[in-house]
Amino acid sequence: MELQNLESPNIPTRREFFRSGIGIAAGAAASMLVSQKAIADRKKPGVETNRRATDVRIKSVETFVLAFETKSPSRDAIHLFSDRGGVVTRIHTNIGVTGHSYTYFGTIPGGPRLVAQIINEELFDVIKGEDPFFVKRIRDKMWRATEYHGVTGVVQFGIAAVDMAVWDIIGRVLEKPLYKILGAFTDRVPAYAMVGWYYEDQEEFTKRCSAAIEEGFRAVKIKVGLGSLSDDIRRLKTARKAVGDNIDLMVDANQAFTVSTALERGKAYQDLGVFWFEEPLPPHNHDGYEELGDKLSVRIATGENEYTKYAFADLIKRGGVDVVQPDNRRTGGVTEWMEIAALADAFHIQVASHGGGPGNLNMLAAMPNAIYLESGSLKGQSMYEVNLKMVDGKVLVPDVPGLGTAVRDDFIEKHRVA
Ligand SMILES: [Mg+2]
Repeated sequence: MELQNLESPNIPTRREFFRSGIGIAAGAAASMLVSQKAIADRKKPGVETNRRATDVRIKSVETFVLAFETKSPSRDAIHLFSDRGGVVTRIHTNIGVTGHSYTYFGTIPGGPRLVAQIINEELFDVIKGEDPFFVKRIRDKMWRATEYHGVTGVVQFGIAAVDMAVWDIIGRVLEKPLYKILGAFTDRVPAYAMVGWYYEDQEEFTKRCSAAIEEGFRAVKIKVGLGSLSDDIRRLKTARKAVGDNIDLMVDANQAFTVSTALERGKAYQDLGVFWFEEPLPPHNHDGYEELGDKLSVRIATGENEYTKYAFADLIKRGGVDVVQPDNRRTGGVTEWMEIAALADAFHIQVASHGGGPGNLNMLAAMPNAIYLESGSLKGQSMYEVNLKMVDGKVLVPDVPGLGTAVRDDFIEKHRVA
């Protein structure tokens, strides 16, 4: 069942109803009905709420390690995505509200187990008994607890998983979607389709680009940098032919280039009218990004492999980025992601998500400088309880409490390995 269908936006919330005169008069008569609805809601996974809770405390944590094989592995300039996995994190509270988050791994099959271990054996100790509304204090405690081995890598993935689940608790207690709690700017965000991978079958590339437009996307991203410049140009021309004019076309090099190669290719891409040139260099080469920012007119999009706002602050200060792409796992979850987006906004820089799904969508919808949600096809059933919908090239933020990232129980059962 899709969660967003549980509540119609035209039906007043219980709070609005009881504030009205009709609500007061009808209150006593309806109390039995309301309590039955509350009980029914609590029985549905991921929608339990408690509006009257005044003292919410973190009680326990659960992790589920998932693994799945990919039927047709895809490739970018530096990765082969075959065996994938993830961690589902659930944080339980004293009032019966549970926060959910999901951490995906495209490579490194051992990564999810490490993240789960860090959450269970290091982070839970310092968040136990905390009030989830003090989410920045929770972040501070997790940073202090893990500083010995460094607040990057899988440690930061763990911190992010907790942070997102804590924000999900906040949303569920307040019975509001995350973007409205953060301060909503919009209820829908333009999405681009990340469909132009390196496939074994070249026909697949053309087919996927055309299918994205048929599905309703108005922007498409393709991978470049695995082959020669002429191969990149061929791919770009093929994609343009498949998607037609008036569609934003982005290229992503996944760190493949040196500064000189990035300059050469960047000029070719900008001549072909690409919307942005993504991750031309490895993330630590901020000098290189500064030089590209000076010498190329095409937008530079990057940041998916940066950790924390401090890395983004340096990149932004140097003029090395036009579109920041914070990753909600590597940056540290909702708390740090939103600070990065606001930092970018202060420098008139735009923000796009790395990856899609309802969590990224909620954060983007709360930022005036957000331009694009990254997404795969939205057809078929999502691994989340919520299915996203696109209208006129924009994805609607689902009207469910919290992040909307509760993973379906049957999906967990099917893929769970630990
Ligand atoms: Mg990328």
